[in-house]
Amino acid sequence: MTEAAHHPHPRDADCIFCKIVAGQIPSRKVYEDDELFAFHDIHPWAPVHFLLIPKVHIASMAQLDDRHAAMMGRLMVLAPRLALEQGCQPYPEGGFRIVVNTGAHGAQEVQHLHVHVMGGPRPWLRG
Ligand code: 5GP
Ligand code: ZN
Repeated sequence: MTEAAHHPHPRDADCIFCKIVAGQIPSRKVYEDDELFAFHDIHPWAPVHFLLIPKVHIASMAQLDDRHAAMMGRLMVLAPRLALEQGCQPYPEGGFRIVVNTGAHGAQEVQHLHVHVMGGPRPWLRG
């Protein structure tokens, strides 16, 4: 039996976000539950900028199928709550931006699905 076959969250050995989930690379954790993990982006574009990811290794949005619908639904419902907890100001005066870069044309650099959540007063560095 392979490692991936019995591990609750199959990991890609070379994936930096899998290593962050496993605690093998340090991060500033924002949130964790059984299937989701969130941590501050190392190069923030905005006063609030964290990444929300599935613990399981999914390369990008392009790999999602119906089995992921509940987890991705939970992720999207969680994002606004974490945004407020991390200092984004309330809608509509405040708010936040959610970005999911996917593939080369989407300018995705890390091949583990991640949702950028950015907010806080403008101007921002980017975005
Ligand atoms: P992408 O361009 O793939 O959507 O974004 C990848 C994001 O991951 C970038 O914003 C980058 O700053 C962030 N990032 C890359 N490596 C690390 C890391 O080791 N730790 C943290 N906290 N963020 C990272
Ligand atoms: Zn991964």
